[in-house]
Amino acid sequence: MSLRPCPSCQNSVSRQAEFCPNCGHTFKSSKNGGVGITFWGIVGAIILAVVILSFC
Ligand SMILES: [Zn+2]
Repeated sequence: MSLRPCPSCQNSVSRQAEFCPNCGHTFKSSKNGGVGITFWGIVGAIILAVVILSFC
């Protein structure tokens, strides 16, 4: 099992772990966080606005 250093406390944590058992730093939030949902929410709002304006 491979280990990786925690970016918060430099503790060696398993790559399969979702969070650091030493300090509680979450690893998955950096990759699959809420940023993508916010991005697509803005894109969807812009597309919806363009579609509405095209019918006016
Ligand atoms: Zn840590």
